Amino acid sequence: MLRTIESLGPLGGKRIIVRCDLNVPLEGGAITDDGRIRASLTTLNELLHAGVKVIVISHLGRPDAAPDAAYSLAPVAQRLSELLGQPVTFATDTIGQAARSAVAGLGEGEIALLENLRFNKGETAKNDAERREFASKLAEFADAFVSDGFGVVHRKQASVWDLAELLPSAAGRLIETELGVLERLTERPERPYTVVLGGAKVSDKLGVIEHLLPKVDSLLIGGGMTYTFLAAQGNSVGASLLEADQLDTVKGYLAKAKEIGVELVLPVDAVMASGFKADADHEVRPVESLEAAPWGAAGMGLDIGPQTAQEFAQVVKASRTVFWNGPMGVFEFPAFAEGTRTLAKALTEVRGLSVVGGGDSAAAVREFGYTEADFGHISTGGGASLEFLEGESLPGLEVLGWQS
Ligand code: ADP
Ligand code: MG
Repeated sequence: MLRTIESLGPLGGKRIIVRCDLNVPLEGGAITDDGRIRASLTTLNELLHAGVKVIVISHLGRPDAAPDAAYSLAPVAQRLSELLGQPVTFATDTIGQAARSAVAGLGEGEIALLENLRFNKGETAKNDAERREFASKLAEFADAFVSDGFGVVHRKQASVWDLAELLPSAAGRLIETELGVLERLTERPERPYTVVLGGAKVSDKLGVIEHLLPKVDSLLIGGGMTYTFLAAQGNSVGASLLEADQLDTVKGYLAKAKEIGVELVLPVDAVMASGFKADADHEVRPVESLEAAPWGAAGMGLDIGPQTAQEFAQVVKASRTVFWNGPMGVFEFPAFAEGTRTLAKALTEVRGLSVVGGGDSAAAVREFGYTEADFGHISTGGGASLEFLEGESLPGLEVLGWQS
């Protein structure tokens, strides 16, 4: 049974450290999508209203285990303060003097945010002792731990795993909500059940396909993963994203899909571009001739083509359960956002449960003007949701008492 906040007993006056996933997209220091901050509010408000001294911790991006202004949580502290309608003390370090004095200065119902966890080597260390040592320093700040960063529960990291072992710990409201939705997807999803995969973390996501195939009716592949599949089918893909060492694995997936009767749907066309930039020249090409002139082997696929987008939309709209993770193209460049936009629209038209998961995917649908109300659920977790759907056991949930 997942331990929830109730399991922590009376809250008033306690110091509670809360792991949130405030890893928001930034552009030139400005937050472009604050969805993950908003998603953290339910738990934080509940604790604050109960008179807790709240210490929030999070990572942001992938800094190199050392302080780096480009990955500071300072802009997040400001946005969080606006959304909560109360001051948020920002500590310019994570376990140093600044953090200690921020925590010491907290009154009941007050809140502090510590600097980026990943400025510290211990946070993501593979070495157990190193991780534990960092977590112990965080643990000194608090009487209890609430884990609410759903986007990181698949990671065995200091602030996800070790901290939960060191302090009385419980899941926050966001994790409870996310789990509720994902359980609806895994326990007898209404059929047809379609999963759509895209995005850039190709090697991460290729791995989940094997486990998802037997569970779904259709698996649609877009985004950067497309080109490894197309190459496995013998197409040339130019300078598109390609995991050359995964070609055999991918051939195996294609064979397995056929064998078990799952529809594995690949793009039939792509938007090829002269380079990776917003104003690159671009043309729609059928997948058999991605390397056509004028760019030849230098061309790169930055979006699914319009015919593919239509086909994907048809499959999605005919489904009763849809989970989507990963943009269909480089949606940050308007010229390559159409595939993602068409897919997003199709998800809003599903008669059944539609779930969008992943930081960038969620940012994309909000950029198109959609809100939570347009989907069954917008999940803050991409990788975490996928691993859950695969049936993997997630360390950050297990440590809170949850069992699959
Ligand atoms: P999520 O955060 O939703 O889990 P990812 O982080 O895996 O998604 O991927 C998001 C990124 O994938 C976006 O920044 C997008 O630009 C990129 N992307 C999508 N399609 C392509 C492509 N064909 N080539 C390169 N990058 C791509
Ligand atoms: Mg992402």
